[in-house]
Amino acid sequence: MKKTICILGSTGSIGENTLSVLDSKKKLFKIVTLAADSNYKKIIFQINKYKPKEFVINNHKIFLKVKNKFKNKNIKIFNNYKHLKKKFDISIAAIPGIAGLKPTLILTKHSKKILIANKESIICGWYLINQIAKKNNTEIIPVDSEHYSIFELTKNYKDLEIEEIYLTASGGPFLNLPISSFKNIKPIDATRHPKWSMGKKISVDSSTLMNKVFEVIEASKIFPFANYKFKIIVHPQSLVHAIIKFKNGLFKMIQHPPDMKITLANAIYNGKIDFSEINQSYKKFTMYNIKSLIFSKVNEKKFPVVKLLPKILKYPSAPIIINGSNEVLVDEFLKKKITFSSIMVYLCSILKDKKFKKYASFKPNTLKKIYEIDNWSKKTTKELIAK
Ligand code: NAD
Ligand code: MG
Repeated sequence: MKKTICILGSTGSIGENTLSVLDSKKKLFKIVTLAADSNYKKIIFQINKYKPKEFVINNHKIFLKVKNKFKNKNIKIFNNYKHLKKKFDISIAAIPGIAGLKPTLILTKHSKKILIANKESIICGWYLINQIAKKNNTEIIPVDSEHYSIFELTKNYKDLEIEEIYLTASGGPFLNLPISSFKNIKPIDATRHPKWSMGKKISVDSSTLMNKVFEVIEASKIFPFANYKFKIIVHPQSLVHAIIKFKNGLFKMIQHPPDMKITLANAIYNGKIDFSEINQSYKKFTMYNIKSLIFSKVNEKKFPVVKLLPKILKYPSAPIIINGSNEVLVDEFLKKKITFSSIMVYLCSILKDKKFKKYASFKPNTLKKIYEIDNWSKKTTKELIAK
């Protein structure tokens, strides 16, 4: 029996990487459901190539256009997830931002195994995701390269056996740019990541190091280890993804070229895959290619967002606030309405707002509450920008 697959965010970087991993063993899988926002060309291409049973399209205009084009064909086009009833064997949640939360929750209920790339939904809705997963016996696999590595490295260990957990950060495109030039940074500079090819939002987050702040929050939610053990370490080569210092004196790390297909393939095949079947050039990559591995501490003057972490981790809903505010700020920066450096200034302001503690102290245990906190954060950030 073929394994049934659902991919949310199928036309994006994670979605396309997942499809290309599955392409190498087509006979094993049936792509049943895909979901995307508005890239008409890619949606049509995926319908023709994968012949899914259904496609969920978020953008209403594109939904109507595609629905009309395929009205007499053997595919159902939807604009929401209400029809999802059956269980998928494997699903991938890769819609960016808090917009991905509701679909991720629905998919968690309807999957035997869910690969979650959408870090914003883990940051904001982990309590709910975990609750639904437990109730429905769903296996959750994080597919950020750092989290997948931590998952692999620590699965047989307890908190008391672990001393430190390092998440590596490439440092993004501005690692070596002098602070004096930060004022000239344009959206096009921030979306050009030196090592990874990713969507716009996560690329900007990588350039501010906010992505790493989110990843520490994400790790603190997923793994049963004390928060203070998670550390960020700069590693511009992006070859090592996580390093664990064990109490027994050993350090262990996971290294692989910066290619999300490796993470996704391992998550799909439970680590039992010959990756050179997916990417033939992988055979040529050996340890002799690596002359040295470089690590350093984060320059907090250049990337001050990392200093926000202790305050964010102190309050149960502070991650929702910082995520909402950052979503607005990245959007405004991409529209050239605010400068790169002001992203940090506004993030600090929201943490100092007089209502911050009230919202940050809420328990994020219902979708309604999460949206209320997110709305407050977004509204307040917009007001701060307009001042
Ligand atoms: P992307 O911008 O390349 O793709 C986003 C996909 O989601 C597209 O298919 C888009 O059509 C779809 N989409 C957007 N809004 C939607 C909506 N409301 N409903 C349905 N579909 C919608 O983004 P990406 O780089 O693939 O990242 C996806 C998620 O994975 C993000 O949360 C990101 O942080 C995380 N992630 C990405 C990478 C990476 O290498 N790209 C690595 C780790 C984690
Ligand atoms: Mg990552």
